Amino acid sequence: MDLLPDQYFDELYSKDVALERVNESIRNAGMPEISVAPGYGRLLTFLISVSKARNVLEIGALGGYSGICLARELPEDGKLISLELKQEYADVAQMNMTAAGLGERVEYRVGDAKISLESLAAEGSRFDFFFIDADKESYPHYLEACIQLASKGAIIAADNTLLRGKTIDENKQGPSVLAIRHFNRIIAQDERLMGVHLPAYDGLALARVK
Ligand code: SAM
Repeated sequence: MDLLPDQYFDELYSKDVALERVNESIRNAGMPEISVAPGYGRLLTFLISVSKARNVLEIGALGGYSGICLARELPEDGKLISLELKQEYADVAQMNMTAAGLGERVEYRVGDAKISLESLAAEGSRFDFFFIDADKESYPHYLEACIQLASKGAIIAADNTLLRGKTIDENKQGPSVLAIRHFNRIIAQDERLMGVHLPAYDGLALARVK
């Protein structure tokens, strides 16, 4: 039987022990298996590398899969701050980052990301790369907070802009769908951003803060 496109591309790359460990730890802990796909993770690593990002903010850590992808191409003095609602998930993510040799490069902040974002703003933090991948209803709020925390030229990436097709199904009108549609319009139309949507995976949005 033919390989699916993702399988075909994944098989071209070497086995990634650190990321396989994340998946195993997520299964063992009974956490949801909703990390980004391997190809998506490679794209995040690529974007960090080409953008020469140094200060990265992730919203939604889970077990550290995307965190490893974001942190592994950071320079020696680079740092990832990752916001996660659940202490037990942040603990698993920290363990996986440490096992990947990236433990010193990450700081987890546990609790509702909206509160953590307020603290980061109060501290005067600035970031040059953002990855939004948490509760979908808060995406418009997260986007505005990221714009406020962005250095000039910063990149914002966000997952799940298609919500497995719900975003483009006009019969779907739930709070997550409405929030993601609003988020997608901001990415496309806000004059502070240069945005692009890719219909890959579950929908990927990228924007550069002007
Ligand atoms: N980015 C992760 C990866 O690919 O490895 C996957 C993140 S998972 C899709 C979403 C995460 O967001 C979950 O770990 C969840 O606990 C977290 N989350 C949900 N609501 C949140 C909130 N209000 N504040 C912070 N984190 C939240």
